[in-house]
Amino acid sequence: MSDQAGALPPVEAPQNHDQCCAQMAYAITADDLAFHYSARLREYGIDYKGGGSFQEIEYCPWCGKKLPPPLTEEWYDRVRELGFENPWLVEDDDLPEELRTDRWWKQAGL
Ligand SMILES: [Zn+2]
Repeated sequence: MSDQAGALPPVEAPQNHDQCCAQMAYAITADDLAFHYSARLREYGIDYKGGGSFQEIEYCPWCGKKLPPPLTEEWYDRVRELGFENPWLVEDDDLPEELRTDRWWKQAGL
């Protein structure tokens, strides 16, 4: 038996997080996990090997709670309202600061 794929001990989760559990709070900030999280779009997922895309997940893989729905379409709508026809082509520098982060949907209570 190989022990190469052994599980790592529990991680030190960030304090004062607003995620469903400590493991998720860690996962969304960890660079070494194949975990996708977009704060501005509130998208949770598992990255494909090799990158480029991800599989969206609806439930937390650690605690099992249902995750809040993604806000991809709402974000696109807000960027379009600013006059951008193709929101996915807009550079971050051209966006108001709150639309670059999770601030817009937290402020809106979404
Ligand atoms: Zn969780």
